[in-house]
Amino acid sequence: MSNTTKAFRGEILHFLSDPAKDNEQSYQYFADGILVVTNGLVESVGFACDILTTLAEDVVVKKHDNGLLIPGFVDTHIHYPQTQMIGSYGEQLLEWLESYTFPTESQFGDINFAKPRAEFFLDQLLTNGTTTALVFGTVHPESVDAFFTQAEQLNVRMICGKVMMDRNAPDNLTDTPQQSYDESKALIEKWHGKGRLHYAVTPRFAPTSTSEQLNKAGQLLQEYPDVFMHTHLSENKNECAWVNDLFPECKNYLDVYDQHGLLSKRSIFAHGIHLCDDEYQRLSDTDSALSYCPTSNLFLGSGLFNLNKAQEFDIDVGLGTDVGAGTSFSQLQSLNEAYKIQQLRGEKLTSLKSFYLATLGGAKALDLDDKIGNFSKGKEADFIVLDYQSTDLMRVRMNNAKDIIERLFVLSTLGDDRAVSKTYVMGELAHDRENKKISAL
Ligand SMILES: [Zn+2]
Repeated sequence: MSNTTKAFRGEILHFLSDPAKDNEQSYQYFADGILVVTNGLVESVGFACDILTTLAEDVVVKKHDNGLLIPGFVDTHIHYPQTQMIGSYGEQLLEWLESYTFPTESQFGDINFAKPRAEFFLDQLLTNGTTTALVFGTVHPESVDAFFTQAEQLNVRMICGKVMMDRNAPDNLTDTPQQSYDESKALIEKWHGKGRLHYAVTPRFAPTSTSEQLNKAGQLLQEYPDVFMHTHLSENKNECAWVNDLFPECKNYLDVYDQHGLLSKRSIFAHGIHLCDDEYQRLSDTDSALSYCPTSNLFLGSGLFNLNKAQEFDIDVGLGTDVGAGTSFSQLQSLNEAYKIQQLRGEKLTSLKSFYLATLGGAKALDLDDKIGNFSKGKEADFIVLDYQSTDLMRVRMNNAKDIIERLFVLSTLGDDRAVSKTYVMGELAHDRENKKISAL
């Protein structure tokens, strides 16, 4: 096979490490830069003046003006079957699940229903510049088949799993411990490691699984050590009290998962708002990660995530939209709300930390930072172009922004899917805002 090399020129930013630890050393910024991609992988990145002289004559250099080229966003927690119920009024977590979520999810046992919805969902991710996500299906294996079929076609790096849920939910949404084990195992065998796809063992949360089912989840992780574990943790105070009642033998909420062998460097816990120091310590000791979901936490009135505390305990944190409790697919909007949450906590969220969380931070939380998250040589070339002139308001505001740090802040405050002009997957154009087709769903 002959090598295909492409070059993309424009303003480029990416991270090498956490700005909260390494400040100026944590990122590279090229006001006039070039990203070189060979066969879908990053070959090099640097100043245009240095790279241009090294390029073969036949390499086409594609120019992106008035925008910023960064790695694709990583969404560390989202539910694809909840797309159609986003923005459902008036409830907090437990009532919201019963009133809106369960009736919606009950429809995904039909592959013909699930398929167009999986397609719409993945299109929304790319439209919003998200190139990798950790995704909940429903209890039905068909929902996961529909998702992976489309993800494989788009050649995107995605993680998904079937929900394991054997109690405290409607009959048409529950499985049994053995059934959940068998179905998850079959899906792992079918999809995990196929192309860019990964499987996540996915108990919904402690209240909807018996101890027997959580043991089955642990058994799957033992048998398949490189699959992921994805669940919810300590989101809402009533939920936490309920978990205490259901598992009186456990020290705390996290301990329920711990006692069933569900903590590891490929375990991602959504929310983690109401945690004690023991829980932070245990997450840190086991290299487990938290997914911070700002728009969801505000929408369901769940609480204000303690980012500084997670940082203090050296826990990997990624950013999640948590659609449909989250109110936007846009990680720019997640950052907009994250900034305000830190303000309410009397803390600051810098622009560098924000964009780190949405890219390399998310990749680290998912233990995929050897493949995605920045422009280091050999990484998969998933990247986006953010448009500084995506709206009249942003254009006017950008005229008064003095440097890249301020431009990042304006992007995360005013930006949404309109600010994502292009999304590239493995160096191939996968979304182009100018030539966007209308969705069929
Ligand atoms: Zn969720």
